[in-house]
Amino acid sequence: MSLLARRLGRIKPSPTIAVTQRAARLKAEGKNIIGLGAGEPDFDTPQHVKDAAKAALDRGETKYTPVAGTLALRQAIVAKFKRDNGLDYTPEEITVGCGGKQVLFNAFLATLNAGDEVIIPAPYWVSYPDMALLAEGEPVIVACPAASGFKLTAGALAAAITPRTKWLILNSPSNPTGSAYTEAELAALAEVLLAHPHVWVMVDDIYEHIVYDGFRFTTLAQVEPRLKERTLTVNGCSKVYSMTGWRVGYAGGPLPLIEAINAVQSHSTTHTSSISQAAAAAALNGPHDFLKAWVAAFRERRDLVVARLNAVPGLTCEKPEGAFYVYPSCAGLIGKRTPAGHALASDDDVVTYLLESAGVACVQGSAFGLSPHFRISYATATALLEDACTRIERACAALS
Ligand code: PMP
Ligand code: GLU
Repeated sequence: MSLLARRLGRIKPSPTIAVTQRAARLKAEGKNIIGLGAGEPDFDTPQHVKDAAKAALDRGETKYTPVAGTLALRQAIVAKFKRDNGLDYTPEEITVGCGGKQVLFNAFLATLNAGDEVIIPAPYWVSYPDMALLAEGEPVIVACPAASGFKLTAGALAAAITPRTKWLILNSPSNPTGSAYTEAELAALAEVLLAHPHVWVMVDDIYEHIVYDGFRFTTLAQVEPRLKERTLTVNGCSKVYSMTGWRVGYAGGPLPLIEAINAVQSHSTTHTSSISQAAAAAALNGPHDFLKAWVAAFRERRDLVVARLNAVPGLTCEKPEGAFYVYPSCAGLIGKRTPAGHALASDDDVVTYLLESAGVACVQGSAFGLSPHFRISYATATALLEDACTRIERACAALS
């Protein structure tokens, strides 16, 4: 009898985390590697957030908290949803998990029966399909190529819905492309969803605050309030406060769904760390002026990377509205030969070549469900990005 559960055969370890760890390993071996794989900001967590964590420790907040999160944190989240999104939730309609990742995972586990379909626009964040598969759901991948701005259209959504559809996942701004839905685009999707009352929507707004050039972020339940009763609005502290290691994500949604998510969590992690919760409450309630400088730095880096990549023969790169990723096409490199004589047959080959010959770690587009592309995270120092672009340029010029 095999040790491993059959459901494990349906998934793979997270490729974004694998690339990050591989780059760290090569660096530790003394190799000169620039890691553009990790999807995390390079800034430090703001000082007032760290201070709040220290104060919580000193107050002795070191015991179990409610499964859904402390009331103080849930109240901070209620205020956040009102302030940023015009959404009214009660503290009971909020759940907090160990990162947005756990909230999404809990939600699938709490709602999917074998064979239930989850519509996932591609390119997608690597974990969506595998989370659905672990919960015995069936991912329904809808290709959203660069020509549609990497976004799901109303027509494509309508064509993907079946009687078995349980969830649609919407992530804006997107990992891995950075593209974000305008209010009009969300309204068009909402119209389709209103015609299919059995479809629930998981909205992943984790990059909400990282938008550029005056882009106005909106979220589905705000654009179409009639959908609020079947929308789970997921967000978190990882990206906006540079708190990836603290593990705080949260969601607002209808009470029965939140209660089901809490029931799942009560048997796994119980809750995220009490200290992290105090820090998150301080982050959400605290000043947000630091964000302006962070977003300005990200925008400068985006402009740099997009311009440099578009100057490389064989690469084309869209300029995204948000997040800290670009998702260039490497179609022009496929079929070329490396100096060692290997033909590049896929974006996996391109990424391996860039790592081995140029010491630049990126993530292959196959991990995100749309090829041939690769993802660069530009949440890293500008000088390193310049260096990485020069290396990519040289590596591509060496192909024949
Ligand atoms: N959603 C998206 C789109 C992400 O990129 C991430 C980052 N890994 C997450 C959710 C989860 O982040 P975390 O678990 O750190 O909140
Ligand atoms: N969201 C980040 C990424 O895509 C962090 C790694 C992960 O959790 O997948 O790289």
